[in-house]
Amino acid sequence: MNAVPATHTIAEQPAPSGALAEFLERKPRLLVGGEWIEAHGKGRIAVIDPATERQIAEVADADAEDVDRAVRAARAAFESGPWAVMLPDERERLMWRLADLMERHAEELAELESLDNGKPITMARLIDVPGAIAHLRYMAGWASKLDGSTFNTSLRAAPGTRFHTYTVREPVGVVGQIIPWNFPLLMATLKLAPVLATGCTSVLKPAEQTPLSALRLGELILEAGFPPGVVNILTGLGETTGAALVAHPDVDKIAFTGSTEVGKLINIAATATLKRVSLELGGKSPVIVLPDVDPQTVAAGASQAVFFNSGQVCVAGSRLFVQRRIFDKVIEGVSEASRSIVVGPGLDERTQMGPLVSQDQRDRVLGYLYFGRKQGATIAAGGDAPAHKGYYVNPTVIVDVKPDMKIVREEIFGPVVVAQRFDDLNEVAAWANDTPYGLAASIWSNDLRSVQRLVPKIKAGTVWVNCHAMIDAGMPFGGYKQSGFGREQGRAGIEMYTELKSVCMAI
Ligand code: ADP
Ligand code: MG
Repeated sequence: MNAVPATHTIAEQPAPSGALAEFLERKPRLLVGGEWIEAHGKGRIAVIDPATERQIAEVADADAEDVDRAVRAARAAFESGPWAVMLPDERERLMWRLADLMERHAEELAELESLDNGKPITMARLIDVPGAIAHLRYMAGWASKLDGSTFNTSLRAAPGTRFHTYTVREPVGVVGQIIPWNFPLLMATLKLAPVLATGCTSVLKPAEQTPLSALRLGELILEAGFPPGVVNILTGLGETTGAALVAHPDVDKIAFTGSTEVGKLINIAATATLKRVSLELGGKSPVIVLPDVDPQTVAAGASQAVFFNSGQVCVAGSRLFVQRRIFDKVIEGVSEASRSIVVGPGLDERTQMGPLVSQDQRDRVLGYLYFGRKQGATIAAGGDAPAHKGYYVNPTVIVDVKPDMKIVREEIFGPVVVAQRFDDLNEVAAWANDTPYGLAASIWSNDLRSVQRLVPKIKAGTVWVNCHAMIDAGMPFGGYKQSGFGREQGRAGIEMYTELKSVCMAI
């Protein structure tokens, strides 16, 4: 293994700017019915900067009573008042106003996201904040474009009777939205956008590790002029706030993004009241490299696919399959790329990869590296943590893996890729699908025939070709198998927030 180059000395976290310092001064509260209120729940959660391990804020752990209050506010806003009678173009205009406000505060939001989650500010500026805004504007357009159908039925009744039958889409109602910590603002906005476009209302629970950008978003939602109760935001733990939200009888739908383990718990709990459930869960996405490509170019792509956001991405390309002829060259390229990544604190402009979100997450990832070694895998690059404060793990490339190893089967959610050789398309398709997950995959090749033969074999909600993790609000996104169900984004993503009503009228 090469010596670690000098660029891997971890820099110190720069101080946050004035606007951010001002936000951090304000005491975080819960947003319920258009007001910032004190929590009934007595629990408190420390919010940590993962680069320094220092506490930057403290938020409440909302309890069942807080959840009930928020759900009642959301129900009231859904059933009566200005939101219930608002026309689509008015909702659309409010959504654009919010998007404009987010744009005006883009730098502050990027900084906040970087400080709270640990991600490089350059990435928050490039991906998280503009992505969130784009989702809002995209979904705003659907507010005025939902439609139904009319039918030529063969219904028979008394002679002369005719029937007029049609469908309408109606908002599903009060939605509980539970989101993870890897893209906090983007997830919050992505979840809220279809709620706002359809005329639903939301009780949103950000992840306990990264609650801050959702609270800032809540301030901007009020400033944009959304009526009270349309968006309610509760900070808290999964087992308290999250579980109470899933159990609440007056919540119509739960939209969840997070681990497969918790997704299953939520699905079971939601059955008691038959809530609608949409789940965006884990993945172990294959990156498949066919022999016709330039190994250097693809190595750069494969490295991006797994190391972006420190590998804390549900679609991370964490299993790399390379055709035997070019395996060594590609692995050399990915290992080199991994060693050149500048690891450091998020607010430092030079940082290309930040720390993991929390100590738990860092320990989990290091635990997988331990198991990998123990089960006989070889570390080609990285494999350890820098000796520095902060939840850092070096980007890691692992070879000599076997299909039944823990590091091959389980989602690591860190900067770790496991690489395997393959010989032909049928073999790689079978291995790519040999996982309980089915979120995404990428195929790297310019051989049209092979690509077109492989795409239908892959059991995944998204297949990229010669790219990875390209996500757009217009493109449906979701998983096969244990990666969840339902599709967010695109037409499917807005229809998921509606009920379809058939009307049959004798005339
Ligand atoms: P991770 O383990 O990576 O933190 P989780 O799936 O546990 O991912 O967390 C995703 C979101 O789900 C977070 O907002 C978390 O608070 C929430 N959550 C965790 N457990 C539960 C639960 N039992 N019920 C509802 N929400 C939960
Ligand atoms: Mg968890």
